[in-house]
Amino acid sequence: MLSYRHAFHAGNHADILKHFVLWLVLDYFGRKDKPYWYIDTHSGAGLYDLGGSEAQKVGEYRSGIARLMAADTLPEPLAQFRGRLKDILPQENLYCGSPWLAQAQTRAGDKLRLFELHPIDFALLENNMREAGLKRRGIIRQEDGLKGLLALLPPPTRRAVVLTDPPYEEKQDYARVVQTLKDAQKRFAQGCYLVWYPCLSREESRRLPEQLKKLSPDKHLLAELHVAAPRADGFGMHGSGMFAINPPYLLREQLARNLPALANLLAQDAGARFVLDGAG
Ligand code: SAM
Repeated sequence: MLSYRHAFHAGNHADILKHFVLWLVLDYFGRKDKPYWYIDTHSGAGLYDLGGSEAQKVGEYRSGIARLMAADTLPEPLAQFRGRLKDILPQENLYCGSPWLAQAQTRAGDKLRLFELHPIDFALLENNMREAGLKRRGIIRQEDGLKGLLALLPPPTRRAVVLTDPPYEEKQDYARVVQTLKDAQKRFAQGCYLVWYPCLSREESRRLPEQLKKLSPDKHLLAELHVAAPRADGFGMHGSGMFAINPPYLLREQLARNLPALANLLAQDAGARFVLDGAG
């Protein structure tokens, strides 16, 4: 089943947390004069028109990227992240997906491996990456990203950032992510693995953070941004999380400095809060 389209959600609070963490990690990887691979198991279209009918339908970006762009003061490095977004977005009405951010942050010697299964988003992704001038630095495949990831590991550079960002529309998505990361670590233990997940009332979602922590009990970081209190009827996404295995050593401190401001900025009710938890 492929009913999820990220265009309806682009630029929402979850994208801001996910892309901020991704940007911090890629920035760190770019500081070392050694090439790395960026692998995106669920890429989406790469670039989204916030004025388009999908984004306008619910307007989630208004309580996400629109608030970030309008904020008076921001702590560092959140302010730098906003500045970077302004630099890399071709037009004001566009918002980036993870592949667009990654192609802008990576260097000539770094490689991108992008997976996207939905035929429409795959075609958009190919087109957007062509516009970005990715050329031979990137390979884009219309394949299952979790299977595709395992086939790529270990990367020849022995340095890699992996982003796993599934739609979690089906119950099995949760278990598949955990199993794939377990297998991925066997093939390539040093990789920096980033997993985005929704904070929902459903049981699979509530159990996922503990299952992820068990994959790497000594070296992980978990950051959650709850923008609202959970609804009494149990429906809806009240927040989201980013889980990192082998996080850069600076990440915890950078998030500790910025998550309070982000929780304030993106709050939808008095239940807004953040969680930062890690080991290693
Ligand atoms: N990572 C993107 C970003 O941050 O801009 C957003 C990705 S979106 C949440 C999830 C995407 O995964 C959708 O575009 C969906 O079509 C795609 N997808 C769903 N199942 C997939 C699979 N098994 N392999 C690869 N892509 C898949």
